[in-house]
Amino acid sequence: MKPAVKVTITGAAGHIGYALVFRVASGAMFGQKQPVILRLLEIPQSMSSLSGVGMELEDCAFPLLHDIVLTDDPAIGFRDTDYAILIGAKPRSKGMERKDLITENAKIFSAQGKSINRYASEYVRVLVVGNPANTNALIASANAPDLERNQFTAMTRLDHNRALGQLANKTNSLVADINRMTIWGNHSMTQYPHIDNCTVNGFSVFDLVSRDWAIDHFIPRIQRRGAEIINARGLSSAASAADAVVDHVHDWALGTRDGDWISMAVPSDGGYGIEEGVVFSYPVTCKDGEYEIVKGLELDELSISRLKASEKELREERAIIEDLLPKG
Ligand code: NDP
Repeated sequence: MKPAVKVTITGAAGHIGYALVFRVASGAMFGQKQPVILRLLEIPQSMSSLSGVGMELEDCAFPLLHDIVLTDDPAIGFRDTDYAILIGAKPRSKGMERKDLITENAKIFSAQGKSINRYASEYVRVLVVGNPANTNALIASANAPDLERNQFTAMTRLDHNRALGQLANKTNSLVADINRMTIWGNHSMTQYPHIDNCTVNGFSVFDLVSRDWAIDHFIPRIQRRGAEIINARGLSSAASAADAVVDHVHDWALGTRDGDWISMAVPSDGGYGIEEGVVFSYPVTCKDGEYEIVKGLELDELSISRLKASEKELREERAIIEDLLPKG
């Protein structure tokens, strides 16, 4: 049997963490031949709740789960880890301004970047889920000087999957028949869900839907889907967010389908006119544990203006936390 992959999950006792850990342990993330070790990292006040999650994991008797570590110590949680999934984040409290939320979370993610730099495997791959995810990924990577920037990503896969679901409904097709969906930009209301390159069973999507539908219905629905779910459930989406974590890491580690791509927020290489270094969602393909931004796509004026609006928001977020980015 292969050696076990070490997976660290922060905020593991939270809603998304609770929906995620059992799926990782069952083999959904790395396949049925790959054992895993789970390192679940929490803040001290959530350790009691985390101990219950640990008991349930034991009670599942997952054959692929070779060890479970429950800790509030980053030195233990991140030690030699292969994958760091950063979910734990400070939620917006009543009356809190966006600026304060960004600043509070920046402190958490700069500390985690430092810990990952110090303790994790030099090949670690990091996925940031805690919001504001793109900017948190930027801060974490800036505080990990010994690691490459491209080892840090943020999650827009849930937006991508939501977009696939809505397009499949509208075109009366199967999700598996749709290729080349793209989410550009920030994981926020300025994200740009983009179907111009999509094919459905090999045909252009515009054989089946109109541009007006895309602009007036599809894009706003994906941008507001999180709020739609909160209104319906009275709670934010957790199972679908956890599912998107599984998809993001699975495809990064094991590769994307031939002829298709996925959406990942990654440090910009300057592509499509986005400032280098900003963590921006792009279409990417993955192979052998590496991702590559899809190049050469044509963008119309509307698309360019949407990408620019999201880039502007990310620059503004970065300006708020500039002091926490190491100089030089
Ligand atoms: P959740 O598990 O519901 O959410 C965690 C984070 O993921 C939030 O920042 C949330 O953003 C974000 N998120 C990203 N995408 C989504 C999505 N589609 N739907 C919902 N959330 C999304 O939060 P809980 O409060 O249940 O759990 C957080 C856990 O983190 C707690 O157990 C807490 O103890 C821990 N924690 C750990 C910290 C640390 O490690 N230093 C610091 C603070 C908390 P949004 O708030 O915008 O929904």
